[in-house]
Amino acid sequence: MRFEDVIRRFLGSEHVFLFSRGRVGLYAALRCMGLGAGDDVLMPGYTCMVVPTAAMILGIRPVYADIDPATQNVTAQTLEQSVTPNTKAVIVQHTHGIPCGMDPILEWSRGRGLPVIEDCCLAFGSRYKGALCGTFGAAAYFSGQWNKPFSTGLGGMLTVRDGALAQKIRDLTERELIRPGAGRRLLIVLQIALHEWLVTPRTVQRVQAAYRWLSKRNLAAGSSTREEYAGRVPADYFMGMTPEQARKGAREMERLGDNIAHRKRLAAYYGDQLPAAGFGAARLPAGFDPVYVRYPVRVANKREVLQAARREGVEIGSWFESPLHPEGTDLEAFGYRPGQCPEAERAARETVNLPTHRKTPPSEAERLMDFVKKHAKPAG
Ligand SMILES: *Cc1c(COP(=O)(O)O)cnc(C)c1O
Repeated sequence: MRFEDVIRRFLGSEHVFLFSRGRVGLYAALRCMGLGAGDDVLMPGYTCMVVPTAAMILGIRPVYADIDPATQNVTAQTLEQSVTPNTKAVIVQHTHGIPCGMDPILEWSRGRGLPVIEDCCLAFGSRYKGALCGTFGAAAYFSGQWNKPFSTGLGGMLTVRDGALAQKIRDLTERELIRPGAGRRLLIVLQIALHEWLVTPRTVQRVQAAYRWLSKRNLAAGSSTREEYAGRVPADYFMGMTPEQARKGAREMERLGDNIAHRKRLAAYYGDQLPAAGFGAARLPAGFDPVYVRYPVRVANKREVLQAARREGVEIGSWFESPLHPEGTDLEAFGYRPGQCPEAERAARETVNLPTHRKTPPSEAERLMDFVKKHAKPAG
């Protein structure tokens, strides 16, 4: 079955589009909703800088809402606190795979007549009250980057509920979507093979450092180009997925059950071990059924923990380093006022995360727990 069809069947959503990256799906959705200069879009002040960028390219102003520390997600209350008269749409992000509390959010957004777009880049298979993330909003976008719920090398998917919006996106992609050339196709096939071959728990830190070094010099296809970090839009931004990536996606979907089971097993282990070691474990209300893409832990000494992890070669992640990841993003250039989302800023200072992906065997999870107990101090 084609990748689009597998996604369609899994999510029960009629319209599926494939792109070079998740952010491109968001861009297409915003553009085809007719949003542009003079419009505001609400989004969490705890996301990746590529999310506001997709809006800003269209002249849209990003407006940030704070998160609830329990779920790391926006709520109806934080959205209400930040909404502006020009707000035309809302992006809700299921951070780390934890679903947003969708009932109150949808009630709030309906009351204001605002369409909801779900950022599912970190959530595939997570459920809220039994329903899958990605099935609540007018549209949802997903990422197939290396560290996401499953990888298509790089890549992104967009699902859309409404037929008229889907038709606009179809027209836009037929008109403007750039088909990846032979060079990019080959590069990505190579990268997928290298990733499969080189990345092990012991090598991951070094492989990631090498990959960052290469992609900064445009010698490898990275998730963001140098231009994008500098706030410029590359000419080939609106690019499609390669056929090889789509085939990888279809293969990943065949083993989705194992993928999710593995993530749940490791998350249960971390969730069991961390409180015993004095760390506050995520306590979610009934009805929240996350598939953690990474398991968040709040620590008082994030910088030291990340340094020690590099030194000892253990895979501790840093999402998110800033209200607009990565660290060093010029927040004000993105319309974020320092202090605007205090809970998000605190989360960025305190949160490190543990892997749950299939290349983390239970023995490695134990090594990670030993590392955390040795080096991390629980956040106060
Ligand atoms: C990774 C990520 C994105 C962007 O995905 P790309 O495929 O790299 O464009 C967007 N939102 C969140 C929350 C992410 O983690």
